[in-house]
Amino acid sequence: MRYISTRGQAPALNFEEVLLAGLASDGGLYVPENLPRFTQEEIASWAGLPYHELAYRVMRPFVTGSIPDADFKKILEETYAVFSHDAVAPLRQLNGNEWVLELFHGPTLAFKDFALQLLGRLLDYVLEKRGERVVIIGATSGDTGSAAIEGCKHCENVDIFILHPHNRVSEVQRRQMTTLFGENIHNIAIEGNFDDCQEMVKASFADQSFLKGTRLVAVNSINWARIMAQIVYYFHASLQLGGPARSVSFSVPTGNFGDIFAGYLARNMGLPINQLIVATNRNDILHRFMSGNQYVKQTLHATLSPSMDIMVSSNFERLLFDMHGRNGAALADLMETFKQGGGFSVDDERWTETRKLFDSLAVDDAQTCETIAEVFAQSGELLDPHTAIGVKAARECRRSLDIPMVILGTAHPVKFPEAVEKAGVGKALELPAHLSDLFERDERCTVLANDLKAVQAFVSQHGNRGKPL
Ligand SMILES: *Cc1c(COP(=O)(O)O)cnc(C)c1O
Repeated sequence: MRYISTRGQAPALNFEEVLLAGLASDGGLYVPENLPRFTQEEIASWAGLPYHELAYRVMRPFVTGSIPDADFKKILEETYAVFSHDAVAPLRQLNGNEWVLELFHGPTLAFKDFALQLLGRLLDYVLEKRGERVVIIGATSGDTGSAAIEGCKHCENVDIFILHPHNRVSEVQRRQMTTLFGENIHNIAIEGNFDDCQEMVKASFADQSFLKGTRLVAVNSINWARIMAQIVYYFHASLQLGGPARSVSFSVPTGNFGDIFAGYLARNMGLPINQLIVATNRNDILHRFMSGNQYVKQTLHATLSPSMDIMVSSNFERLLFDMHGRNGAALADLMETFKQGGGFSVDDERWTETRKLFDSLAVDDAQTCETIAEVFAQSGELLDPHTAIGVKAARECRRSLDIPMVILGTAHPVKFPEAVEKAGVGKALELPAHLSDLFERDERCTVLANDLKAVQAFVSQHGNRGKPL
């Protein structure tokens, strides 16, 4: 399988190279040159497979040529064995033909574990073979950091540095990062905000001289391997609800458009999907595009669903690429227009075509809390604020009651106690068994000034399992 850039200029890469790459050298994102397509018979024959076996069948074509089948199988078996629910991604019924796909039974209680548990293992496998080491520097406002650290903590060949804004992440989220120890794990609290952290990561990718030749790898959702891992659970949910004979719809709490883009790919790979709903919070650039063909940057608002607080949606470029007939030059122009003026619309026909599959809704904090309370009263299920936004959007945008509607349950409610409290459901939140002593554990974290040079000096001092690079 070969991967090409959405901006058409960077060289095509194989899977192994794309795993180790961040942005393409032309500023674009990597996508498969040709998407694999499965027949209905093939998909139907996967019904009842354990999650890791299904994952093997769905993802195998993407890694062919880079990872031998037997090795890939073993990696997947190990990856999904760490999930605490036997079904890995169980479906729970909320209402008539309405389901939540629980993606929060991984080590850090959010769906990001599905991809980052796999990414860590894939990196270690590939690096071992090449005899190389890499450094990861990532910025987090919460979920990504802990999932990335959990995913990489056993990696022999990876040193991971996660930057979070000092005193600006929730206590659960901070502790999920800072209580994980290892000589290759480094938590840095920056005296600044999330944007400051993200800027430092970008600047470090742009000039890597401080790494003395060690390669820098991206763990944010622009990494293709993350998208790839998320395709699997769309097949998994559909197969349990009568697919592929029957079509299924999905509502996806969305920020950077990684998770829902995986659903779009599942459909293009042959899975019958009737409708994909983009559910956003008040940071609604994607809703404004889907409802009015305006992709325009606005200011950032802090919400009760912080993992969806974005101004620009990085993976949306991957959909735009397909919308423009995979014309890299056209995309490069469009993204330049966006950079210059902060917005664009696309041709009417392209937008109308996209809307055949996608619907959208923006849900504010008050509606989020109302939905948490409403669902709790109806079914006794306690939703996290991100999932609640997905439920609200599903109920508003649903096209057919006969088609099963699956809402992606992206996080466990215990991660976001503020929203649950505001919803006033009066149910105590309990940490799952493997995290029950989280608040008693020791923490390890370095506080650094909001200063790129200081951060880079820290990385080069500790980037080789705690020793200098
Ligand atoms: C990351 C995250 C999202 C958004 O996913 P994208 O792939 O960025 O659209 C939604 N909910 C939770 C809980 C998350 O951690």
